Amino acid sequence: MIEKIGNIIKEKDSFLIVSHKNPDGDAIGSSLALYSALKDMGKNVQVVNLTKPPEVYSFLEDYDIIEPIKTMKKTDVIIAVDTAEIERCGIKKEDTKDKIFINIDHHKTNTLFGDINFIDGDASAVGIMLWRIFKQNGIAISKKTAQYLYVSIMTDTGSFRYSSTTPETMRIAADLLEIGVDPWFCAYNIYESNTLETIKLLGLVLNTLQVFIDGKIAILYVTEDMFKKTATQIEHSEGFVNYARSIRGAEVGILLREDRHNVFKISMRSKGKIDVARAASVFGGGGHKNAAGAQIEGTLEEVKTKIIDSFSFLK
Ligand code: 5GP
Ligand code: MN
Repeated sequence: MIEKIGNIIKEKDSFLIVSHKNPDGDAIGSSLALYSALKDMGKNVQVVNLTKPPEVYSFLEDYDIIEPIKTMKKTDVIIAVDTAEIERCGIKKEDTKDKIFINIDHHKTNTLFGDINFIDGDASAVGIMLWRIFKQNGIAISKKTAQYLYVSIMTDTGSFRYSSTTPETMRIAADLLEIGVDPWFCAYNIYESNTLETIKLLGLVLNTLQVFIDGKIAILYVTEDMFKKTATQIEHSEGFVNYARSIRGAEVGILLREDRHNVFKISMRSKGKIDVARAASVFGGGGHKNAAGAQIEGTLEEVKTKIIDSFSFLK
């Protein structure tokens, strides 16, 4: 599989790289790592996304090359990274006609929508899988490419804390540092550069905390009104769900984000045995065992009740 993908990368000329909407650090880092490595090989490369990447990633040199998906140009190969279902990246099956469609992902629930599917549900980030593709095919990894891989891995492992962090993860991270990545520069820009507005939003959100089922479920919410009051956007609530999860005794942390009137984006995080991907799939969503999401319609109270009911097995 890795060799097959390497051969396509070497033989073909033009590439379109895409990832899931509302891209996170893994989606952005792995998209840009592929972009950077392919550009170094003299290829034509375009990176597109359904949504504008969060501003927090604007410190990455190629942040501005990520274009809206509607600007999609002609290409030989389409590569989707970190995308469990084709619908989440905005590519339609007809867009892939007469092209090679490669799917590189680490979601166990990946629907194998590509012509070629390289899926490793145990990889801690797509950056790990790209590292293997680059190394095993003799594709050069510049300092810039290494930085993008590091951002992918650092963000998706919760800064090397999650149980997905393996000896391989640490060895690859060490190799990336050998290439010249500055870990503090990446961490500083992503975790230590919050705007004042973001922290004010966090204050409002922490005030909404409620716990249920003997404290096993902790729920926070953020409303349109809170975003308005603090002059912030959706992207600024990224990571807030971790405060719910961080409470002692909480097995699941949940953030309800009001995206539109009576439409909530749900983020779920677990830190034990509970599989939140399964919980999210009840609502048509998905993700990983310890991090998943979905969209639910209804009033805030209705949505909260639906979610708490779905965890009634914890009682
Ligand atoms: P987050 O809560 O950070 O948005 O997402 C956590 C994980 O759940 C990610 O792996 C993401 O791909 C997945 N996820 C989030 N929202 C959805 C959704 O609406 N549908 C599906 N299938 N997966 C989601
Ligand atoms: Mn990922």
